Amino acid sequence: MSVKENLQEILKTLPDHVTLVAVSKTKPIELLMEAYDSGHRIFGENKVQEMVDKWEQLPKDIEWHMIGHLQRNKVKYMAKFVSLVHGVDSFRLLKEINKRAMDQNRTIDCLLQMHIAEEETKFGLDEQELVNIVQSPEFKSLENINIRGLMGMATFTDDEKQIRREFRQLKSVFDGLKTELPDIDILSMGMSGDYRIAIEEGSTMVRIGSSIFGARNY
Ligand SMILES: *Cc1c(COP(=O)(O)O)cnc(C)c1O
Repeated sequence: MSVKENLQEILKTLPDHVTLVAVSKTKPIELLMEAYDSGHRIFGENKVQEMVDKWEQLPKDIEWHMIGHLQRNKVKYMAKFVSLVHGVDSFRLLKEINKRAMDQNRTIDCLLQMHIAEEETKFGLDEQELVNIVQSPEFKSLENINIRGLMGMATFTDDEKQIRREFRQLKSVFDGLKTELPDIDILSMGMSGDYRIAIEEGSTMVRIGSSIFGARNY
């Protein structure tokens, strides 16, 4: 199956309220162009340098999403073009994004990443850390970032019940956060292996790589 066919198959099954981020990390420009030529415009990358290189080479109407763990010293390289930063997992990082967005005279949309998986290795905030961020007076003074919602990754497991439980937990944190931030509208959860469950549990944005572009060899 071609990239175009894979995309069409997936898009057919997505409800209208769910946005597809085509995760193109490690994949060559030609494959991204196949997706682009079939009409797709939203791509996700997990390394800043790779995203910058691709942004430079590809048409400028693409929305670039940074989905990976982000180091503060890399924010400046993507501040002028990134559309949505999914993996914000500290207040210091959020402040850096705000500062670099201000330098560019723009507002950068962000998602706060929650730690929902059992695995220790996955990044993200716990609920207390989330509350600490959004209730701090300094948070309200950050005028060049816009928190659009939350992102999370479930445990890598065959146990569907566990995956469902983790997504459901994230959805409930998302709903609770609306008391503080009534305008949030993006819940980024679900990848190739678990996006169907994620959608059933309330995802509004899925990040799909290998089911579109094929397996990655690192
Ligand atoms: C790589 C990656 C994805 C896509 O994974 P696939 O299993 O290839 O669909 C989604 N989200 C994040 C954060 C990733 O790093």
